[in-house]
Amino acid sequence: MPISIAVDGPVGAGKTTICDTVCKKLGILHLDTGAMYRAVGISALRKGVSTDDEESIVRLLTSGEVDIDVEYRDGEQITLVNGENVNGLIRTQEAGSAASAVSRFPGVRRHLVALQQAMAKRQSMLLDGRDIGTVVLPDADVKIYLTASSLKRAERRRAQLLEAGTDIPLEEIIREVEARDYQDMNRETDPLRRAEDAVVVDSSDLTFEETVERVLSLIKAAKKE
Ligand code: C5P
Repeated sequence: MPISIAVDGPVGAGKTTICDTVCKKLGILHLDTGAMYRAVGISALRKGVSTDDEESIVRLLTSGEVDIDVEYRDGEQITLVNGENVNGLIRTQEAGSAASAVSRFPGVRRHLVALQQAMAKRQSMLLDGRDIGTVVLPDADVKIYLTASSLKRAERRRAQLLEAGTDIPLEEIIREVEARDYQDMNRETDPLRRAEDAVVVDSSDLTFEETVERVLSLIKAAKKE
């Protein structure tokens, strides 16, 4: 039977990498829904549309001028804008901020949620995002809320940025993480919150491997039920 797994949590909790590893171990597809919001964000920037201009951004999507899609090649998610693979463009801070801004708009959310639900209907999948357990898959077989303290999340992000050659002071990254949390948790439409039936995994004091094991054991336990 196909299984659906919902993983939500704040920025920098490690959802994408943890979920990728979990899905490889389980042999199921992983849909990183943040990538789709990032794709909308960079599309607005590329078209010169302000990320505050709700009407124009929603029109880009509903008119088909910007067509967001996802496909898989060797199990890897490829996020497409009008057929172009944008995986290499969506991981910047700028794309993340643009994603956070455009994700406030109900029209954007409705459009992407419908695509996500259609994909999850077809096959066993793990979806990660902000509203998966609450809105996209309210009947998911397993719901996990993956989090960590803002300090830990900022430290991890700083280490990643350093590896990529960018040195940003920790205080600045903490501020950015907290600002994004605030925006994601306080927007009117589908704010980030833990679904009542989600299990919290706090990775603040866990290693990457320990977090993966914890998530896997929750999924395996649900499969047995
Ligand atoms: O997870 P990631 O950091 O890539 O997501 C980028 C932004 O997209 C988030 O800050 C959030 O505002 C938005 N998002 C969302 N709902 C989702 C996934 C992401 O609003 N399901």
